[in-house]
Amino acid sequence: MGVFRDWQRRRVLKSARLDEALWSKVASTLAFLRGLTDEEKVRLRELVFLFLAEKEMHGASGLTLTDEVRLSIALQACLPILNLGLDVYNSWVGVIVYPGEFRVRKDEVDENGVVHAIDEGLAGEAWPGGPVILSWEDVGLAERGYNVVIHEFAHKIHMDGGGDPDFPAERPGMDPEKWRQTLEASYQRFCTEVDADRPTFIDPYAAEHPAEFFAVMSEAFFTESAVLARDWPDLYGQLALFYRQDPAGRG
Ligand SMILES: [Zn+2]
Repeated sequence: MGVFRDWQRRRVLKSARLDEALWSKVASTLAFLRGLTDEEKVRLRELVFLFLAEKEMHGASGLTLTDEVRLSIALQACLPILNLGLDVYNSWVGVIVYPGEFRVRKDEVDENGVVHAIDEGLAGEAWPGGPVILSWEDVGLAERGYNVVIHEFAHKIHMDGGGDPDFPAERPGMDPEKWRQTLEASYQRFCTEVDADRPTFIDPYAAEHPAEFFAVMSEAFFTESAVLARDWPDLYGQLALFYRQDPAGRG
């Protein structure tokens, strides 16, 4: 796969044409892109071209998949892999976009073995080895600390990249103990703060499960990086090693 894919990617990049006006329009809505260096911007563009060429996006429930929708999702999905490369996303191809929250019905078994029929509206969902599902309305609600695209793609990076159901595996070169202990201790600290009703700039939803904590903290890492680095320095440091980026250090 390697050589053929490299050749294909070079071809895609050679023929890629960028709609500069659309890029500027979409990028202007994403404040966290502002601190990127020129070199990082070039690499992000290449990743976005390849993402759009290799992934299949589908509009559902009447959503028209415009170039703006496609570009906005691709841009946000590629920021976390800026220094990891598109191969992190190799094991799946689909992105399904609904106009708003989509309803999910499923059965869940609780710790007593009782099956509950769940019917809920979701802003996003990620399937192991399968598609990412997003609500376009919720993509548009992105603000500091909240970003459904980064959230769902953080789940993808976790579930397709090794590790266990709680947390992703560390990257080569990272200290596995430190990674694991920092995530576990941070999760415990967060749950204690939520239980004590202490105000937190992080969405309390992160207390639901360690995997949700990782996804929500990834949102904060990219979109509220200075606050995360100040209030959660150990966690920030580990996420910087994991994503191989230092967003708080950007001007
Ligand atoms: Zn989640």
